[in-house]
Amino acid sequence: MPDLPKSPQNYIETYYRDTLHTNEQREALTEDIDTDICVIGGGLAGLSTAVGLVEKGKQVTLIDANRIGWGASGRNGGYIAKGYAQGYKQLTKMVGLEHTKQLHKLSTHGRSLIKDKIDRYNIDCGPVRKGVLGVSWNNHPKKVQEYIDWMQKDLNAPLEYWSTEQVRDACKTKKYFDGFYSPEDYQFHPLNYVHGLAKAIEDQGGKIYEATKAIKIDDRPDGGYIVNTPQGKIKCNQVVLCCSIYVDDLNKKLKYASFPVYTYVMVTKPIPQDRLDAALNTQYCIFDNRYAQDYYRRLPDGRILWGGRVSINGIPKNLAEIMKRDLLKVYPQLEGVVEPEYAWGGTLCYAPHKMPQIGQLKPGYWFNTCFGGHGLVPTSVGGDVVSSAIVDGDERYKLFEPFSKLNFAGGPLTPYIAQSVYYLWRARDLLISLNK
Ligand SMILES: Cc1cc2nc3c(=O)[nH]c(=O)nc-3n(C[C@H](O)[C@H](O)[C@H](O)COP(=O)(O)OP(=O)(O)OC[C@H]3O[C@@H](n4cnc5c(N)ncnc54)[C@H](O)[C@@H]3O)c2cc1C
Repeated sequence: MPDLPKSPQNYIETYYRDTLHTNEQREALTEDIDTDICVIGGGLAGLSTAVGLVEKGKQVTLIDANRIGWGASGRNGGYIAKGYAQGYKQLTKMVGLEHTKQLHKLSTHGRSLIKDKIDRYNIDCGPVRKGVLGVSWNNHPKKVQEYIDWMQKDLNAPLEYWSTEQVRDACKTKKYFDGFYSPEDYQFHPLNYVHGLAKAIEDQGGKIYEATKAIKIDDRPDGGYIVNTPQGKIKCNQVVLCCSIYVDDLNKKLKYASFPVYTYVMVTKPIPQDRLDAALNTQYCIFDNRYAQDYYRRLPDGRILWGGRVSINGIPKNLAEIMKRDLLKVYPQLEGVVEPEYAWGGTLCYAPHKMPQIGQLKPGYWFNTCFGGHGLVPTSVGGDVVSSAIVDGDERYKLFEPFSKLNFAGGPLTPYIAQSVYYLWRARDLLISLNK
């Protein structure tokens, strides 16, 4: 099992940390306070919940054991794409088409909410660029077209078919064939967004404390809860747990209903423009269709952000080298100009069904967690449905009920099972490439 952090921790070394516009640090809580709602966890799940609550006039206190955006929310690929970690096709098998349509509607709404916040609060987290391109590692155009038709017909998703020629004009590699273009998905700088949301919360009266770990939650005899932190207690009427994989013994039900998975990103030093154009000739976000996929995009100063791989074993010592090798497999023409400047890992929170866990354990005790490797739009959805449920009694959060029973996820063995599945996927990817 990977080691989980000993709090509090500052940001790890990432491209995002080094390009933050403001790195304002919040104080730790050192006294007892009263608040209406206490949000635990300052990733995008917690911040999206808190911003939804203050926008609706609620008194909110958010605490993070480390820094806001310290976890996956400040380390990700920056793809703001509709959908969930579980794909729509599989979701349809799990909950039926009508339910999937409702979840998709929430997702497209969650995606526009992020853009609304960026505009409304003037959050400088650019470049905010539209366009995500899914490319095929294998040559099965019929399958791609069928998928696009299904997404258009059943989910009303405006995907466009791209021929192999179009794809290879953007991504100059023989590894790819055709693909689909999603014009409404986009990219941003996640850690600048985190800080912008935090400021919006504070500007509307919300309080944020960093280096403040919730260690125990007690029921109050008169209703509501007491959140215990090392140097102060928070008396509140409602509590929202957005702790992702770090929930630990704060709530054992949540702890045992998920398992951690590591995943990785590398950012290169700036690459000369002509060499870059001769390889990745597009500003869109790219991902391929393998189970163990690569995803990447150009950054503003001529760098490439390259993401991929999952593991249960923490961060390999030669991570930068491994990621560089993955990049050069796709773009051998960049040999000699690709120099990793940053390489980091982050921990994802997964449930076996790969869907978020959103709901209420008892009245006023909420959870909003488990977003896996596809969490930027889903955390926006989670924040919206939970804050609306608390304030207006909105019941959209119940669309997540089938995934929020918090069944035992297998305990310490689950990550090993997940790793074996990943190795099987990679073997399958390899077979597919050999049969090309
Ligand atoms: C390398 C990487 C690339 C990714 N790329 C993408 C992408 O391109 N697009 C996409 O949609 N998704 C992506 N994801 C997934 C996405 O980032 C996550 O799903 C999402 O950020 C999860 O947000 P969160 O708030 O649930 O968790 P986190 O961001 O991990 O935040 C949890 C927070 O809770 C705090 N906390 C925990 N316990 C306590 C406690 N007891 N008291 C106080 N605070 C506590 C932690 O300190 C932490 O800050 C990626 C993830 C990684 C790691």
